[in-house]
Amino acid sequence: MKPKKDIRSLTKEQLRDFFVENGDKAFRGNQVYEWLWSKVSHSFDGMTNISKETRKMLEDNFVINHIEVDEMQRSKDGTIKNAVRLHDGLMVESVLIPTETRTTACISSQVGCSLDCKFCATARLKRMRNLNPDEIYDQVAAINQQSLLYHNRKLTNIVFMGMGEPLMNYNNVLKSIEKITSDEGLGMSPKRITLSTSGVPKMIRKMADDAVKFNLAVSLHSAIDEVRTQIMPFNKNFP
Ligand code: SF4
Repeated sequence: MKPKKDIRSLTKEQLRDFFVENGDKAFRGNQVYEWLWSKVSHSFDGMTNISKETRKMLEDNFVINHIEVDEMQRSKDGTIKNAVRLHDGLMVESVLIPTETRTTACISSQVGCSLDCKFCATARLKRMRNLNPDEIYDQVAAINQQSLLYHNRKLTNIVFMGMGEPLMNYNNVLKSIEKITSDEGLGMSPKRITLSTSGVPKMIRKMADDAVKFNLAVSLHSAIDEVRTQIMPFNKNFP
């Protein structure tokens, strides 16, 4: 049997077409799209305004690949650290960081990292794969739910400062931000998102060419080139 397709790999248009091809109305695609993204439903059963037959048809044709928070650690100061299991069993970390006025999600962009910063635990794992846009989106959605549950307010900020170098997974990071900032996704302002990089000049120039609206932070760790090379050896290539 052919493996079922991940329904979230479909665009809204493709979802609308799927329903028309299966004898239903195109707007059913809009309803399912809303469940998948803004309501972050991880099961067809939870889509309560969709008929049982249609849900069964979706179940027969698709899966919804999604992340699971495998372990959550809550600190006295309200910080929550999540061990996140991906659909293929690999793990990444995400963190909710509260202050008086904000809740920030610190999220991962890769499983492991190809760079070799000496102070970093992730550097000891080899880079296994890039996260896809949905896996990045899901980390944000999960932390938004935790923020509502434990802090009584929505998530306010996002930093790409977890596992991985986001500029080494640029296309997927950009796609995830499109969805996070879309009204059909989480509707967050790009001004509240910061991509933190160890500094990949070619990609920073690309960000400028692409006229992205989110913020950029560069982790120098040292402003002295030799010291920086000692602790971030890839600095030899990008002094
Ligand atoms: S780029 Fe970030 S995740 Fe990668 S090794 Fe350096 S500090 Fe760690």
